[in-house]
Amino acid sequence: MPADDDVAEVQAAPGEPLVVLDGVNKHFGDLHVLKDIDLTVHQGEVVIVIGPSGSGKSTLCRTINRLETYETGTITIDGVPLPDEGADLARLRADVGMVFQSFNLFAHKTILQNVTLGPIKVRKQKKDQAEERAMELLARVGVDHQASKYPAQLSGGQQQRVAIARSLAMEPKVMLFDEPTSALDPEMINEVLDVMTSLAKEGMTMIVVTHEMGFAHKAADRVVFMSDGAILEQGTPQEFFDHPKTDRAKDFLGKIL
Ligand code: ADP
Ligand code: MG
Repeated sequence: MPADDDVAEVQAAPGEPLVVLDGVNKHFGDLHVLKDIDLTVHQGEVVIVIGPSGSGKSTLCRTINRLETYETGTITIDGVPLPDEGADLARLRADVGMVFQSFNLFAHKTILQNVTLGPIKVRKQKKDQAEERAMELLARVGVDHQASKYPAQLSGGQQQRVAIARSLAMEPKVMLFDEPTSALDPEMINEVLDVMTSLAKEGMTMIVVTHEMGFAHKAADRVVFMSDGAILEQGTPQEFFDHPKTDRAKDFLGKIL
């Protein structure tokens, strides 16, 4: 990385803990949405989070990105506890990339501007450097020829690939995906999953909420099953899909497979 680039290298070696949640609890009013969550995601690991609607998967992602507060427990990213506010929070959001179900691109900015905005503002990159890198990333996700268009001129699948490029431009240490394909027309799902599969192969640490079981089988190192705010079981895709242990996991798999 060039010297004027405000990016911290990942400290964790491959296989070492990168995202660590220890006894995390969160309520929305009386509703206990995260119950004693212990979860360690290792550098380079791909963890798929599945579970019924309302089980707390989105809240888990949003809490890791500090879009939500939590009451007890600790969360560390690459050895650093989550900050409360201020500049450290902006840096955390850059270190922890997030891709949502709804692509959340800036409607009044071009595709290129969508990707360069964060690197220029948060990572303090120079405009030409940010644009060069953005074009590389847009090429990588296959939408570089759309760089001067606006989000509404692109298909859903293309917009979601731009959203991935935008996160990658911040050089995140970990990428969170919250049901990234569930708002897409069926024929566009694979073009997004293919980008995610290649990211996984390149060693990106990823936490992915998805019900795309083919992708989970292919890309996941580990599957985590959430139910009612708690992690009920976890294992390799083979262990979990072929031999779920709890009745709730069996019941859930029976409904989606
Ligand atoms: P999932 O992503 O697994 O469907 P969520 O994390 O979205 O689950 O939601 C977990 C629970 O928290 C649900 O009961 C949901 O209704 C509730 N919830 C989510 N966000 C809020 C909020 N901002 N305020 C109050 N309750 C919420
Ligand atoms: Mg959700």
